[in-house]
Amino acid sequence: MSTTPDYQIILNQIQREFAELPLSGKVASYIPELAGVPFDKFGMHLHTMAGEDFCFGDSKDRFSIQSISKVFSLSLAMKVVGEDLWSRVDVEPSGDPFNSLSQLENEAGIPRNPFINAGALVVADVLVSSFSNPKAALLTFLHEITGDPTITYDETVAASEKAHGYRNYALVNYMKSFGNIENEVEEVLDLYFHQCSLEMSCKELAQAFIIYANQGALLNSEREFLTGQQVKRINALMQTCGFYDEAGEFSFEVGLPGKSGVGGGIVAVHPKKYAVAVWSPPLNPKGNSALGMAALERLTTLTGFSIF
Ligand code: GLN
Repeated sequence: MSTTPDYQIILNQIQREFAELPLSGKVASYIPELAGVPFDKFGMHLHTMAGEDFCFGDSKDRFSIQSISKVFSLSLAMKVVGEDLWSRVDVEPSGDPFNSLSQLENEAGIPRNPFINAGALVVADVLVSSFSNPKAALLTFLHEITGDPTITYDETVAASEKAHGYRNYALVNYMKSFGNIENEVEEVLDLYFHQCSLEMSCKELAQAFIIYANQGALLNSEREFLTGQQVKRINALMQTCGFYDEAGEFSFEVGLPGKSGVGGGIVAVHPKKYAVAVWSPPLNPKGNSALGMAALERLTTLTGFSIF
């Protein structure tokens, strides 16, 4: 019989081990707001199914969650359009960088999965079609799952994403030429750039992601935000596509479904046990937090369990 590990002792050990090592990687620099984030921020928060919290470091600082938001937008889109979504977005790993254009041509404007930018842009299009105010609808979903109404967009980051978003413009325009974008390009990108600008802490992310560990429900609540089947699909997509062309490496090293963002955050889920978020801004060449991945590898090694 397995016993519950002492998560705080394990987190303290992870913090100590990495404090002694030099940081590798480069902080995202495609917009000035991310380039200016201190490179040595490091925090981690683990929230268990028993409602316990364990943390260290800068776990309460809010940061730009960037592509982690793709999990929330996908969840909302699945709630509103259900299985119809899969005729417009595939569910296969891409093996390509997150902002790649090349597969779209051969695959007639159908993105490989909802976590590469092209897929998240189709999901954003679905939300624009489904809500009169999609930005407000996404915030409402987040406020409900976190219980925190102060979570919001960073308008400066959103404006900067727009000013530098040439590749995302290219992706939406290209998909629109194939008929896979229903709305105006500007409207779809406005939602996408805003969702990338969402600011949350490790603590808030771990609390929000507990629904993916708990079959779609908050702890101690009757309210189900997603069905068990939807959670199964989202976790499967995180496992196979959550780290772009490094999804295999993350599965291999960590063994949990998860999602990264270029702000340096990573969230991972151990179904029926916990959700965990880690933040360290320097990214490896694939755009994933270098220290974040290493810290999660230590977590599943030191606890002795992953989903495999
Ligand atoms: N804002 C970034 C982009 O669209 C998000 C990418 C990411 O976090 N992987 O390019």
